Amino acid sequence: MNAEYPTTTDAGTSGRVDENRPDLSNSNVREDLALTGRCALVHLPSGRTCLLPLRHPGPCDFHGPAEAADVVSASQ
Ligand SMILES: [Zn+2]
Repeated sequence: MNAEYPTTTDAGTSGRVDENRPDLSNSNVREDLALTGRCALVHLPSGRTCLLPLRHPGPCDFHGPAEAADVVSASQ
């Protein structure tokens, strides 16, 4: 099941991505945020995190660590 998954850049891959975790193949994910049902992709150059729902349509929307911490604490 290869549903669409968020990509922050066009990596130009000609081969297939890892089928085990395609959403993790080329990005970091904050596990604490992922457990709250968020996309949780980390934009490595800035260290900001996507707070949109998992498998959200469209591009990631990255937020700073303070907002990410709010999401985590609100879910607990
Ligand atoms: Zn995202």
